[in-house]
Amino acid sequence: MEITAQSVWSNCLAFIKDNIQPQAYKTWFEPIDAVKLSGNALSIQVPSKFFYEWLEEHYVKILKVSLTKELGAEAKLVYVIKMENTYGNKQPFTEKIPSANRSALKSQDVDVPFNNKSPELRNPFIIPGIRNVKIESQLNPSYSFENFLEGDSNRLARNAGIAVANKPGGTSFNPLLIFGGVGLGKTHLAHAIGVDIKDKYPEKTVLYISAEKFTQQYIDSVKKNNRNDFIHFYQIIDVLIIDDVQFLSGKTGTQDVFFHIFNHLHQNGKQVILTSDKAPVDMQDIEQRLLSRFKWGLSAELQTPDFETRVSILKNKLYRDGVEMQDDIIEYVAKHIKTNVRELEGAIISLIAQSSFNKKEITINLAKDIVEKFVKNTKREVSIDYIQKVVSDYFQMDVNTLQSKTRKRHIVQARQLAMFFAKKYTKASLASIGSQIGQRDHATVLHACKTVDNLSSTDKQFRKYVEDLSKKLAL
Ligand code: ADP
Ligand code: MG
Repeated sequence: MEITAQSVWSNCLAFIKDNIQPQAYKTWFEPIDAVKLSGNALSIQVPSKFFYEWLEEHYVKILKVSLTKELGAEAKLVYVIKMENTYGNKQPFTEKIPSANRSALKSQDVDVPFNNKSPELRNPFIIPGIRNVKIESQLNPSYSFENFLEGDSNRLARNAGIAVANKPGGTSFNPLLIFGGVGLGKTHLAHAIGVDIKDKYPEKTVLYISAEKFTQQYIDSVKKNNRNDFIHFYQIIDVLIIDDVQFLSGKTGTQDVFFHIFNHLHQNGKQVILTSDKAPVDMQDIEQRLLSRFKWGLSAELQTPDFETRVSILKNKLYRDGVEMQDDIIEYVAKHIKTNVRELEGAIISLIAQSSFNKKEITINLAKDIVEKFVKNTKREVSIDYIQKVVSDYFQMDVNTLQSKTRKRHIVQARQLAMFFAKKYTKASLASIGSQIGQRDHATVLHACKTVDNLSSTDKQFRKYVEDLSKKLAL
């Protein structure tokens, strides 16, 4: 068979479909068209810039794996962004990335897709004459201070960051440790400091690296017997930013080497910036001497932003993306997604994506649907035991009755509902649901799910059961 863009892409899709959630597949992959294949570069057309960013952020690995399977190790992916204006007369995507010259998968290392890796960084220490080598900072310029909105929740950390950026190594905030829960802006702020320093002091060597990658490089250096080169490489950096240092927990070798690098940098007036998902006192399995170093400077916490800040973050994002959205919709999203800025942005992005490729208007109802999905997805998974308990309580029977072999109609229905919700709210297989709900087989569970589906569309009373139970289980 002739190899075409379409055939390559359809093989990729088959692989991707097998490996991600159906809803995600539908949302993010079905709207894509393969448009061109030239050599080992496949061009795919995506509906908008959001789409492209979302794919890059969430699916670049699976894209790479699937495309490499099809086109070999040299495979390249090129995004073509379809300029379709669904938002009235405004030109929403003026900041568009030129369609053809942006390609992911160029570098072997794809987890920081916004920045092509320089080989120097990936293997810094084997390059001779390192002092003359320009070190890529690995910074994401869109993570700027300007885009990092200030609120009570981040004022200290943000301003400390600005102070550090004005005088790297010259404040008492050394190291600056930024800590806080997931999705609250640690990585963004850490980049912003680096970006600003690069801007003000172009001659300074700034390096952003995740603790995970730092660890990996260290391990490689030990394997290759060039641990000293590794240390020297890090010792010539002026501003070292290490993200997610909690990752060093329990890794004594890496902690040890970092301790030496840290001391060297600190003594020489170089700036160190760290982020962590925990306060130093709560960090486990980090050596005491390192923890005490962390406390030398300033530990600044990022807290969850209040409602006003969440609204401003969303408005700023929409403004930058050139999208208009009604205030009540923005506020609805900000009101319901509270604990994580990344999810807040994610909800808005899928809202825009949904509306743009379904050509639906962005309405409050669409917002409700999407927010519900976000809130539900991030919830702890409920257990099958819990579901059986809730269903039994609702029908005022005990769990043993629900599981019993009886064919009494109301008990059968309760059992079927428990199976239905177990399928809906847990990741358990049909077989495992069956074995936990009264030792039934997978066919029985499948039948139960179908029955519940049918009855809830034909029987009003039954639909009420489903709705009531959904509410109880969703809490
Ligand atoms: P963390 O590293 O703490 O998990 P990130 O830095 O990755 O979080 O932030 C998650 C997302 O939220 C990013 O897209 C970031 O730009 C955004 N974000 C977080 N805080 C703010 C803020 N104060 N203003 C604007 N965007 C923010
Ligand atoms: Mg982060």
